[in-house]
Amino acid sequence: AAPVAMVSGMSSMSKHHIIVKSGTTLEKLARVLTFAFDKTGTLTENQLVINEVVPTKDTNLTKEELQSLAASVEQQSSHIIATSLVKDTKDDLLKKADNIKEVTGKGVTGTVDGKEIKVGKLSFVAPNQESLNINSTAIYISVDGKFAGYITFKDQIRPNTASTIARLRRQGVKQIMMLTGDHKNVADKIAKEAGINESEVHADLLPAQKIEAIKDVQPDLRPVAMVGDGVNDAPSLMAADVGIAMGAKGATAASESADAVIMVNDLSKVNDAVAISKHTMRVAH
Ligand code: ADP
Ligand code: MG
Repeated sequence: AAPVAMVSGMSSMSKHHIIVKSGTTLEKLARVLTFAFDKTGTLTENQLVINEVVPTKDTNLTKEELQSLAASVEQQSSHIIATSLVKDTKDDLLKKADNIKEVTGKGVTGTVDGKEIKVGKLSFVAPNQESLNINSTAIYISVDGKFAGYITFKDQIRPNTASTIARLRRQGVKQIMMLTGDHKNVADKIAKEAGINESEVHADLLPAQKIEAIKDVQPDLRPVAMVGDGVNDAPSLMAADVGIAMGAKGATAASESADAVIMVNDLSKVNDAVAISKHTMRVAH
């Protein structure tokens, strides 16, 4: 491609608050046939709101105590569930936590007030506990190895997610994929609102399975772009032909692993990125 057109394309991107790291990225972006999206914080708002705090009947914890234990071990995590929970918890309920360990895509463990706290997926926190059929984004909590309850969150679709997806399809994108570690019923609900087909939803994925889903995309549906916001999305951004980080919160680990960074909290910037790249490649020939 003509260098002048490429420079002008990159400059146009930056005027739209999109940083594209190389000309190769711009060329690939113009040809992308599959767009994969992380759900939580990407297709949905970048802040969750606590809905319900539910201690189990046989724990003697109050709602406030359960929330306090969970939020205290989540203080160091940059996962959107963690940051939302901590933000939604009063300062005096946030206690010192020790021995914090985060398991990507599963949850966090730590010690608070001498108690062993585990927070995250049910299969991680209390593998022997039977499923509770909760129809919203939730974290489960155990205290000293005993299942102690759960917290549910409102995970709301961004107001412009559906229009962004619809426009991507009009822009020639053949396949949209939702890749999420959240469970299928939550994923399907958001997908329906977003205009993503059920067959395009990949739920209950571990981080390694998100990478597999990207690698499994057929050659006639490539290149693949992946859009994600969190530190835990870094591996999938790297696996995609074009990794796009929603980096409104600054230089996150996701931005470092990405080929392009959207610097503002606006999903429709992916439409601008595709439009500018296609325009650039047309004038570059
Ligand atoms: P997503 O694809 O929805 O962004 P992740 O792969 O990061 O999700 O995580 C999958 C699931 O693992 C989350 O929905 C949550 O239940 C659990 N999880 C991961 N990290 C944490 C954490 N720091 N605190 C609580 N739960 C977590
Ligand atoms: Mg996410």
